[in-house]
Amino acid sequence: MQLIYEKSVPGRRGVKLPASDVPAAAPLPASLLRSAPAGLAEVSELDLVRHFTNLSRRNFSVDTNFYPLGSCTMKYNAKVLENAAALFNPLHPMTALLPGGEELCQGTLGMLHDLGGLLAEITGMDEVTTQPLAGAHGEMTGILLVSAYHAARGNKNKKKYVVVPDSSHGTNPASAAIAGYEIITVPTAPYGDMDLELFKKAMTDEVAAVMMTCPNTLGLFNPHIREISEIAHSHDALMYYDGANLNAIMGKVKPGDVGFDVIHVNLHKTFGTPHGGGGPGSGPVGVKKELIPFLPQPRIIKDSQGRFQLEARRPTSIGRTANFFGNFGVMVKAYAYIIMLGREGLIRVSEQAVLNANYIKERLKPYYDLPYDQTCMHECVFSASRQLAHGVHAIDISKFLIDRGYHPPTVYFPMIVKEAIMIEPTETESKATMDEFIEVMIEAAQTAESNPQALHDAPLTMPISRLDETKAAREQNVCCQW
Ligand SMILES: *Cc1c(COP(=O)(O)O)cnc(C)c1O
Repeated sequence: MQLIYEKSVPGRRGVKLPASDVPAAAPLPASLLRSAPAGLAEVSELDLVRHFTNLSRRNFSVDTNFYPLGSCTMKYNAKVLENAAALFNPLHPMTALLPGGEELCQGTLGMLHDLGGLLAEITGMDEVTTQPLAGAHGEMTGILLVSAYHAARGNKNKKKYVVVPDSSHGTNPASAAIAGYEIITVPTAPYGDMDLELFKKAMTDEVAAVMMTCPNTLGLFNPHIREISEIAHSHDALMYYDGANLNAIMGKVKPGDVGFDVIHVNLHKTFGTPHGGGGPGSGPVGVKKELIPFLPQPRIIKDSQGRFQLEARRPTSIGRTANFFGNFGVMVKAYAYIIMLGREGLIRVSEQAVLNANYIKERLKPYYDLPYDQTCMHECVFSASRQLAHGVHAIDISKFLIDRGYHPPTVYFPMIVKEAIMIEPTETESKATMDEFIEVMIEAAQTAESNPQALHDAPLTMPISRLDETKAAREQNVCCQW
């Protein structure tokens, strides 16, 4: 592909701007003035459209390809949700914060308030703040709430640790560490859940919180979750629920009913917003009533006349965690999604997501090792250890899938599974799509035995074959270099 700069012809234009009719208020200081032109490509509109369209076609998205990236819940998000979000665009984010501004945006405040209420209902919490901008941001907000809770009870210095299972997402221990806690990691037992006996040993009165996702990152629902909550509470530790896997349990279990006190929800995973490429996301945090005094401000309150207001400053609050009201457009999509599907619809989402994951698990079981062979929830985790005997790694299988038009599953996570391949089909994929994917996965397993080199050589269809993955992550340079 020719670079856009190579197509540049001096004087060629894609747009014609009208002459400026704004008088220069004051001459700019020389230090701020450009001494040479900006050096932009001079191309026609058509060249520009082709450039960006072709670039976009080098990307994977759920709208173009099956994207079974485990733990990320890459489901299809209906376009009608984008239309709903666009309806709110004209509102200036300062509106509600100006004196008397609440009156001008009752609909917006009401939507935020009601979204919080719906999420509270789904998760079994008493109140939800929609401010945090992502799951990890929600985790940090949640742990700061835990910290404020213990401090208010005079236990600030006593509570030193946060307990996580070794299957936890890296953001869990990272968020707790940033909030000032030391981490205790509990190993996973052969049955695929946090080892209950080792957990009991780890629990002391110095533990501030236990952070878990349930189902965990192996896609397994912990049958001891109530007992774990009771043990944590007996040590005055709070239970934190990483809601990234909520897609598996909507309408089936409310985390609040099994003992969780704080939860974050990833709206960009479960509730209608496309993600990947860095956002925008939204990670609302729900809490039980004991934690409400510490929630970020301003809270949106509904008064006795049904008017929505911003609550006055509250000294116990941990403060503001986002500008204005967070990533507002994502919240509109989540609200529209929940209203559109309703109670029955959300239940069916979870049922179908779980059914799809189990279908893939059963069909691929003869070809790939399944370290924790049980009924799974919304995702299943294989190991490429059998293929490793032929020198083929999980990453080689990923690259082969790219050549066949699939986004690879999550690999090497959770870290407790050697050569992990974590597949999450989500509820939005048809059986036909999953069947085609399964056939390609079977072909990969067979190729690993018959011609491992073919897998090492993949991908052959991409502009760049193998990247230095570490360098690519650490030194991001997304300029086109081919
Ligand atoms: C995605 C994910 C997170 C982090 O969420 P972000 O929105 O990406 O910050 C945390 N835990 C689990 C299990 C996840 O899958």
